[in-house]
Amino acid sequence: MIREEIVIVGAGPAGLWSAIVATKLGASVTIIDDNPIFGGQLIKQTHKFFGSKSHYCGIRGINIAKILTSDLENLPVKKFFNASVIGLYDNNLLAVLTQAKLIKLRAERIIFATGASENNIAFPNNDLPGVYGAGAVQTLMNVYGVRPGHRALMVGSGNIGLIVSYQMMQANIQVVAVLEIMPKIGGYHVHAAKLARLGVPILTCYTIKRALGIDMVEGAVIVKVNKRFKPIPGTEQRLKVDTICLAVGLSPLNELLWQAGCEMVYVPELGGQVAQHNEDMMTSRADIFVGGDLSGIEEASTAMLEGKIAGASAYESLKGVSAESKKIKEQAKVELGMIRQGPFGEKPRWGKERLAARRGWT
Ligand SMILES: Cc1cc2nc3c(=O)[nH]c(=O)nc-3n(C[C@H](O)[C@H](O)[C@H](O)COP(=O)(O)OP(=O)(O)OC[C@H]3O[C@@H](n4cnc5c(N)ncnc54)[C@H](O)[C@@H]3O)c2cc1C
Repeated sequence: MIREEIVIVGAGPAGLWSAIVATKLGASVTIIDDNPIFGGQLIKQTHKFFGSKSHYCGIRGINIAKILTSDLENLPVKKFFNASVIGLYDNNLLAVLTQAKLIKLRAERIIFATGASENNIAFPNNDLPGVYGAGAVQTLMNVYGVRPGHRALMVGSGNIGLIVSYQMMQANIQVVAVLEIMPKIGGYHVHAAKLARLGVPILTCYTIKRALGIDMVEGAVIVKVNKRFKPIPGTEQRLKVDTICLAVGLSPLNELLWQAGCEMVYVPELGGQVAQHNEDMMTSRADIFVGGDLSGIEEASTAMLEGKIAGASAYESLKGVSAESKKIKEQAKVELGMIRQGPFGEKPRWGKERLAARRGWT
């Protein structure tokens, strides 16, 4: 049995910043991640990030992960790699499954920063080998150096769909088309333009009708949709592909929050069920905090800022408010507000406002 002041579950940008802040402020911290290296989604993001200088703009995701983990190296944080938190029981007892054994960890405060899982969509044969989430393809290519196939269809033209399509082309996988059910492309123009320059068609008002094949993907039937997203008969096309990549959104990875008994709210703008939380990233339980994609699907920049706030808030709830903790939170809240003012911040801003309007506590 290990006892700890603050335990952080998930070492993506949110969890890493929570750990850095809470430790620098003076708390004793343990951070746990189920991957062999820390960084969360960043460890597979080979593209350069957007945003402002303070949020590592112009730096590749993989290098941001290296910067954050080396910051952590110099701090007295206890780290568990390859370790999954598989349960949360009474009195904040966390069950942590490592490769060697099951560890019991009792935490005074917990920060959950477990990120998100990829959404699937329903179509015949969507369970054939060769149908992947876009994030899984990115992991295969950029973390393990494995090409998932030779000819791919991407479903979804948000930033993830566009970026992973480009990275597939870089890995010598022919992207036959990117489909988008909406009338316009979902992601940044700059990512779409890079694909267009390579001759990849981005078909708006299109979706996948079925995957073809018996033991594995051998093709796909795509179809045009009307304004109500209904397939238009006669517009079907067959594509010869061995890989179908789904980039159709993410959902917060929230099972442990349900187990904790946190108040959960369905907020479509935040990606689904999220724990009700206040501006300090505290949930309906005063000893549990959240940050990053788990508290609403956004970006690495906002995940880092929420992580800072969660780290400082968890520290304050244990040891009291300090001038430094107050400053960190105030600054992070200002920066969050600025990011969410932009056109791509609109959705999460509405989501967070909707949460606040429903909250019966502060
Ligand atoms: C293709 C792609 C491109 C992107 N490009 C950009 C970009 O250009 N700019 C930008 O700002 N954002 C970008 N993002 C978004 C950004 O990566 C995420 O918003 C960000 O990583 C979320 O951080 P997080 O810390 O909340 O979660 P994550 O980075 O997902 O980290 C969560 C970690 O928790 C671990 N975990 C989960 N459950 C458990 C458990 N039970 N026990 C132990 N560990 C657990 C996970 O394995 C993971 O390592 C992109 C995302 C993708 C997929």
